[in-house]
Amino acid sequence: MARIVVLGAGLSGLASAALLAQAGHEVTVLEKNNWLGGKSRRIELAGQRMDTGPALVTFPEVWQQVLDTFDSLGKVQAKDHASLSFTKLKEVGRYYLRNHVTDLPVRPEHHWHKAWSQFSKEHDALTPSISKLLTSSPLDPAALPALAKMAKVYGIRLTTSSYLRSLSYMPQALKEVISIHTLNAGVSPNRSLALYASMTAAMATQGISVPVGGVNEIALALSRLAVAAGAKIELGAGVKEIGTRSVKTQTAEYSFDHLVSSLDPGVLKAIQTGKPNKLAKHRSCSGVAIYAVLKKPLPDDVVTHSVIMPDDAEKLHHSLDRALPPEQTMTFVNYYRAGEIYPNTKDTVAVLITAPADGKKHGLNSEWVRNELDRVSQKLGLKVAIDELFEEYEILNPDYFAQFGAAGGALYGATSPLWQSGPFHNPQYHNPLRPRLWRVGASVHPGGGIPAVLGGTLIATRTMLRKIGKPKK
Ligand SMILES: Cc1cc2nc3c(=O)[nH]c(=O)nc-3n(C[C@H](O)[C@H](O)[C@H](O)COP(=O)(O)OP(=O)(O)OC[C@H]3O[C@@H](n4cnc5c(N)ncnc54)[C@H](O)[C@@H]3O)c2cc1C
Repeated sequence: MARIVVLGAGLSGLASAALLAQAGHEVTVLEKNNWLGGKSRRIELAGQRMDTGPALVTFPEVWQQVLDTFDSLGKVQAKDHASLSFTKLKEVGRYYLRNHVTDLPVRPEHHWHKAWSQFSKEHDALTPSISKLLTSSPLDPAALPALAKMAKVYGIRLTTSSYLRSLSYMPQALKEVISIHTLNAGVSPNRSLALYASMTAAMATQGISVPVGGVNEIALALSRLAVAAGAKIELGAGVKEIGTRSVKTQTAEYSFDHLVSSLDPGVLKAIQTGKPNKLAKHRSCSGVAIYAVLKKPLPDDVVTHSVIMPDDAEKLHHSLDRALPPEQTMTFVNYYRAGEIYPNTKDTVAVLITAPADGKKHGLNSEWVRNELDRVSQKLGLKVAIDELFEEYEILNPDYFAQFGAAGGALYGATSPLWQSGPFHNPQYHNPLRPRLWRVGASVHPGGGIPAVLGGTLIATRTMLRKIGKPKK
């Protein structure tokens, strides 16, 4: 049996703790904050539940694979601790771009429907390949057919923008709607792999889901699995020093045979070396995330997930790349009516504004945030600014996201060159020169939404168990 210390109780740290403990190892999770879930954090406003951070789940089969893998590793049954139910949203979202409004999938009555159908048909076939790549190492021979299928579709058009540019049948504005999704990975379409174009089609075909009760239910379910399998989780235990065989918090020292880090690589390095975490020159975007309980409902035609796009995405990427305040940005509006998803008695809204990773703090009336709130209100057809409808609210800023690690509040840390921005990411899960250190989480799997984070954890943990073995019980 190996002693394993896991750094961080976000989704990736909790998932790896659950799997490693279920395989029979002695696992301790150390988390600096006093909640479970890391970026997925539950708060209460005006007596209503709101889960901050991730809101939408794509590729739900990855969650099922985590449960199946857990069951295959030991005697504790996932269904006894982690049965979640997911609600599928009616649409991926409603997109507002200049004078265009469309849902994805594009509705049959919309004039983009024909082009969308062709695109969707070409890319649907790739959905199983994407799922495969989310949960297998690209060096695994089993992943080769998936990579080959993708190479056939994209050819030499490696980036999302070069691939979309080649689709002559598609209206320019629809290309913009598809390519804005690369911001989910925190970067522009000319710095992300063509794979992101297919992801949009896959999301639209599969639909997107939300766990009933909110996304933080995933973190809570993972923590129950970890504890049931024998792991210890210590909250308020920020790691200050990392040695070759032990880590220290403010109050205790923990010896390990293996260390699993879900921390941003910059933060990990800063703890290891005792030098400050540097601001990376190229970093992913951050967010100004406003969570509010509403005094009254939004109009009936506002859907659960709206995406308000900038008129000129190029200009936005230019500002984000230089960490400058954008003139217009991309904003998500997640609107939950009372009783929908959450057990709430009032309507709630999350306004998630894509922001430069400048580590700053903004209020509702900071100039560019104000502009964006007014733009959102106008696009959604509200009679007053959306914040006039807030009963109570909280704002999480780039300075808040910086507490999780990446300097400046970059949600996915420093960005990598194109060829390392997908499955061949750097740093790797494991470097043979540092045999006791394993990495999981958003910053080693850039583009790191929940499926990539959980899929990456599956890959890292399986590799780790192959190397360190599974104790006999
Ligand atoms: C506003 C927002 C919206 C998002 N929306 C979506 C979405 O809709 N769908 C989706 O799929 N993804 C979304 N994401 C991305 C998703 O939230 C992340 O990919 C995922 O939560 C990352 O999990 P993680 O475990 O890798 O990292 P984290 O959650 O950051 O976990 C790292 C943990 O390490 C802890 N830690 C840091 N330093 C130390 C230390 N010294 N000692 C001990 N612990 C430490 C941190 O406190 C944290 O708990 C969103 C993210 C944000 C911020």
